[in-house]
Parts: sequence; structure tokens; C-alpha cells
Amino acid sequence: DLARVLAAVPTGLLIDGQQRGAADDAVVTVENPADGQPLLEIADAGEADALAAVRSAAAHQGSWATTAPRNRSGILARAAELLDRQQEDFALLITAEMGKPLAEARGEVAYAAEFFRWFSEQAGHISGSYGLSADGGTRILVSRRPVGPCLLITPWNFPLAMGARKIGPAIAAGCTMVFKPAPQTPLTSLALAQLLAEAGLPNGVLNVIASSRAELITGPMMRTGALRKLSFTGSTEVGRILLRVAADTVMRTSMELGGNAPFIVFEDADLDVAVEAAMVAKMRNMGQACTAANRMYVHAAVATEFTAELTRRMTGLVVGDGLQPETQVGPLIDAASQLKVRQFIDDALDRGASVAGIGSVPDGAGYFCAPTVLTDVQPGSVLSQAEIFGPVAAISTFTDESAVVAAANDTEWGLVGYLITENLDRALRVSEAMETGMVGINTGVVSNPSAPFGGVKQSGLGREGGAVGLEEYLELHYAAIPVR
Ligand code: ADP
Repeated sequence: DLARVLAAVPTGLLIDGQQRGAADDAVVTVENPADGQPLLEIADAGEADALAAVRSAAAHQGSWATTAPRNRSGILARAAELLDRQQEDFALLITAEMGKPLAEARGEVAYAAEFFRWFSEQAGHISGSYGLSADGGTRILVSRRPVGPCLLITPWNFPLAMGARKIGPAIAAGCTMVFKPAPQTPLTSLALAQLLAEAGLPNGVLNVIASSRAELITGPMMRTGALRKLSFTGSTEVGRILLRVAADTVMRTSMELGGNAPFIVFEDADLDVAVEAAMVAKMRNMGQACTAANRMYVHAAVATEFTAELTRRMTGLVVGDGLQPETQVGPLIDAASQLKVRQFIDDALDRGASVAGIGSVPDGAGYFCAPTVLTDVQPGSVLSQAEIFGPVAAISTFTDESAVVAAANDTEWGLVGYLITENLDRALRVSEAMETGMVGINTGVVSNPSAPFGGVKQSGLGREGGAVGLEEYLELHYAAIPVR
């Protein structure tokens, strides 16, 4: 079945509605992280292709901006429907190129469809205002317009959803796009572009350039001045580079960067809820999410019980090829990630952490990493300060609420925090004290198309999803008309 799905994936660059090879005929092979085997060879965009994609986006911006909002809404609604219908095919593709278990991949397809549905509903409600200045002398007409051609850059961890939550609002707002998916997982994006064309998206509105040469093509595209907005999801490190480039042409930016989420279990927590939330916040996507619980702080009074149950659950998980139905945890994305996670574990152990439990991994190829629970993790450990991006729970204990809040906030990142407590006052107090854009209270999941996803501090700028998710693709326009 995967062979049939792969055979249907367009392998060229999508520029101005045409499939084409790279100008220099470069190609790149996409591989399956579960076995290191090649899946498909696709065109690899260079600078000339990237600039052609920008020209296409710029050329179609004018006509696209004036389409009826209901038309754009209809395209998104049909895209959501098509994704629902093709859920299994997209799930297979996601799992094949990214590694997550099929059940999670199906969940991602549903989540992506929901972004299209949400922004389909928003598209017809873009409004403005008509008012009078305070001195009574001027009529103030405010309207909203598409910001203009957008550059969308996505990571590999949610190959479908990361694209959908940028493409959805761009379509709703009337922006054209150049979309560069992650080099590890371009196939899902190529298939998505085909689905959007089927849903009625006109040629040239969405241009897709898969490329292994991001650092070479992004600057030239952004410096053309034709792109008016960058929406990036990826590492804080690359985000900083792109913000500097964006400054050259003063582009609008939405930046979803890294996280270092604290997960706090208070002594009044319902421990079943705590373990369930920890499992999701830690193990979803094999821990490869910017929202992953990176530092677990557990009150000393419940630490033994919580750790024992979390260890039992984590080490009992079946690790393997995500395409196999029994698999609960897939491989990491590549060898570099696998090595990095191992080094993080070794560093934590060198600094005094203990192993509470380690699961098992299958033999053979594939970038597998055993679910691991560490206790007594010291604050100076690399895995407390950097994104683990792997199935490693790093637990330390605390006794004092204000001290744990200070520890939780002691990071340059501020994407999300989790807290588990049955005490309402505490939940609100700690939630307000958390220096993060989002807080999960008695839950391990915050992502929701209806909610504003995003971080503070060095976790990013702007929000995706919710009503403000659309605002990020709109510019205010004001006309002054004297009262005569
Ligand atoms: P990750 O660690 O999740 O791979 P990255 O920030 O490296 O995160 O990558 C996220 C996205 O940014 C990918 O699409 C990648 O190709 C792109 N990218 C990486 N480096 C650069 C760069 N220097 N300029 C533009 N895009 C880049």
C-alpha cells in the first residue's frame, strides 16, 4: 500500500502550477528513518528555482487577493474533506518519511484537516471598522488586507500539520506562498500541494520547493523584497539567523522556535492524571516536539510513586517501525538525533543522575532510542538546558512552590509549561507565574487549531491558530476621510 502511495507523490518542484526539475538537475533522496532505506528521489531546489518560485508567488498575489473570501473558504473546506478521505494514505506517507507510529500519524492528519476547517470558517469573517476620530473631524476606515507573498519554512517533526497551520491562514487571508518543507520530510508536503490543487487552489498560489540547500536559497529569496512575510517553525538557532535576514527587507515574521517545557507535578496532583499527561507530553512523536516535557519537576512527597508508574509505562512501550501496527514508539528522525540523545543521557549520568528504567529497542537498522527515565537530574545537565527531542524523561524533585516556579522559568525559552494539581488557586497562581506562551493544566497537550499556539522569550514571535492565527497574515489598512 505504501508503494501505491509513494507512486502517487509528485516528485518535482511546484512552481507556477507546473511540476519541474531543479534548474541544475539536482535531486535528493528521502529515506525512511525506521530502516534507513530510500523511499523516493525528488527534485532539490537551488537558488534559480527558489527565485522562480518567488516570482510566481509575486505574480499571482494581486489576483489571489481579490478572490471572494467564500471561494478561499471553500477551497479550505474541500481540502479538509479530502484529507479526511485520504487520512490513511497521508498517515502512511508521514510514518514512512518521519517514523511516528501510524496511530499518531492518523492523529496528525486529523489535526491538519482541523486547521483547514478552522481557517475555512475564519476566511469569510475578515472585517474592519468605520469610526470617527476623537476630535470629530475625520472618518476612520480600517480594513484588513493580505500581507502579501509569504515564505513558509517548516520542520520535519509534524510533516503535515506544520504546513497546514501556515498554508491554512495564508489561503484564508489571500496570500500567495513559497513553501519550503524540511529536507527530511518533503513527501507529505508535495502530496499536500497536489491535494490543495484538487481542492481548487489556483496555480501559482502555492509554490513548493523542497531543498536540501535551505541556507543557500533562503537569503536570496528574502532579499528580493517581493516576499512580505516569513513564517518559520524550527530551531531557535536558525530562527535567529532568519530574523537577521528578515531585517534587511523588514519582513513581517512569525517564528515558532524551540522550547524547554517544565512539567510540574504538585503534591496534591491526581497521580493517574499526572502520569497520563506525562506520557503524552513526553512520548508523543517520540519526544520530538517543541512542546515536549523537557524537565519534570515532581514534589518529593509523590516522586517515588510517580516515577515508578511513569517508568513502568514508558519502559513497557513497544519500540519499532511505525508502519507495524503493534508499534507505539517509532525511530528518531536521523542518526545525528540518535547520537545527540545518547550524549545527553551520558552527560546527565556523569553529573549524578540515576537511571530509573530503560526500555528496549529492536535490532537492526533504524534510528531507535529506548524510552528512558532518569531521576536526580541536575540543573546543570545539558538535557535540562537544551531540547532533548527524544524519549527521555528527566526527573528532579522539589518541595517549595516558589522555588520550582523559579527553576521552571530559569531558561531562555518560554513556549509551554505543564502543571498537575487539584488545587484551583495553585493552578491559576502558577499558571500566571509561568513565563511561557501556553500552559497545560492537568493535561499533556495544548495544541489546538482553535487556540493561539506560540511562545514568549526565545521561543518565538507571533501565534499560530485561533483567531489571531489569521491576523498574522493580514495587514491593517486605514483611510482618513475628513468630515465635510
Ligand atoms: P530542526 O532541528 O528541527 O531540523 P531547523 O531549524 O534546523 O530545525 O530546521 C527547520 C527548517 O529550517 C527546515 O525546513 C530547514 O531546512 C530550515 N533551515 C535550516 N537551516 C536554515 C537556514 N540557515 N536558512 C533557512 N532555513 C534553514
